[in-house]
Amino acid sequence: MDCWDQHDKGDVMVTPPPLKNDCFALPPGVDWTPVDDALAQLKSALRCVVSTETVDISEARDLFVAQDVIAPRASPPKANSAVDGYGFAGSLANEEEVIRLALHPERAAAGVPMQSAVAEGQAVRILTGAQLPEGVDTVVLQEDVATDGQEVVFHGPLKLGANTRKAGEDVQPANVMLTTGQRLRATDLSLAASVGISQIECFRRLRIGVLSTGDEVCDVTQSAAPHQIYDANRPMLLSLIAAWGFVAVDLGHVNDDRDQLRERLDHAQENVDVLLTSGGASAGDEDHLSALLSETGSIEFWRIAVKPGRPLAMGMWGAMPIFGLPGNPVAAATCAMIFARPSFNVLAGGHWMMPQSYWVKASFEKRKKPGRREYLRARLIGDQVEVFKSEGSGRISGLSWANGFVELPDHAVTIRHGDLVKFIPFDSFN
Ligand code: AMP
Ligand code: MG
Repeated sequence: MDCWDQHDKGDVMVTPPPLKNDCFALPPGVDWTPVDDALAQLKSALRCVVSTETVDISEARDLFVAQDVIAPRASPPKANSAVDGYGFAGSLANEEEVIRLALHPERAAAGVPMQSAVAEGQAVRILTGAQLPEGVDTVVLQEDVATDGQEVVFHGPLKLGANTRKAGEDVQPANVMLTTGQRLRATDLSLAASVGISQIECFRRLRIGVLSTGDEVCDVTQSAAPHQIYDANRPMLLSLIAAWGFVAVDLGHVNDDRDQLRERLDHAQENVDVLLTSGGASAGDEDHLSALLSETGSIEFWRIAVKPGRPLAMGMWGAMPIFGLPGNPVAAATCAMIFARPSFNVLAGGHWMMPQSYWVKASFEKRKKPGRREYLRARLIGDQVEVFKSEGSGRISGLSWANGFVELPDHAVTIRHGDLVKFIPFDSFN
């Protein structure tokens, strides 16, 4: 059962139970799991791991709603004018004739309700946002009126209610405005504020740790020895997580040393809800993440039919799910976006997400064999998409060059110039 289903019974879950140890188990007997099956497994097995809290709307952007938000009042609260003009009783304006009304001495302005009513045969000066005074249901635009300060004159017909906003036409009291599991965007916060809601019951922001592994990997703030490479994964993954609206927790780098890694995982478990590691996830001698996850009995080697991407090591360290990404930066980025990103939504209390994609014309040619789904580093320019000149998964320059992926299907395809291909902008993971 998904965590938000529990709200249907009217009770807010405070501390969610841990995920099951076998939550990453793929169907047995499959050699290379298709991407869609792997995604379906994540979608069905994962659920919310964070508790709820009451959050000021100024802090709530990108959080997931934990309890439906009900409007406590109407918006707008009272009927008001949509324009600057003159207000009167609209039944006067049905005729196709010149309408002449006596100007009422008061003025109706936004935030300053009028003291007196507007009588039949009168019109009142009214400004945008002003509550309609008693006796007014229709407003004529000031541009359409001639006045000498005593009378206002304009041409009919004018529809009853023209240029006004009805009370509650945007939101009615007791309307459900925001629903459980929905992610709060700037526009949703505006909607909440419009009916006086300053706090929303949300799921606590998911904390995601990032840990790099490998003896050859050197932190970018240190000076790398000739046999070392700089850690290109950690800054990328931390920055992606922040862009996705979660809390990115830098857990540093650890050598290929089992005891050190074990300590680091124990530390991570105290500080984050979910962990992204990179490197050490295969079955080699120095792949200690795999070895440690095997000890817990929760390791799942995900041999996914995807390119780029070597096996992913998925598992649980206590209550903390781990996504063991490949070390190669291109594969790490791809697997983080395709597999980890939608999972984070669910862990954070939201719904499963699929990134927005578009069919655009290819400005490249390619033959692809059947078997593996491919994510090519791609760049949308105008209405055409190009792909990076190299498919090597160590080519970070291609990641930096690209502004999205071209996704090629599991089956064989031949792409010619002008064929439509599926483009997924990197921004659509945000
Ligand atoms: P691994 O998955 O540990 O076998 O690593 C696969 C490849 O990715 C190796 O060439 C590593 O040197 C490289 N690699 C691993 N971690 C990183 C990192 N944090 N930054 C850049 N390259 C890395
Ligand atoms: Mg390694």
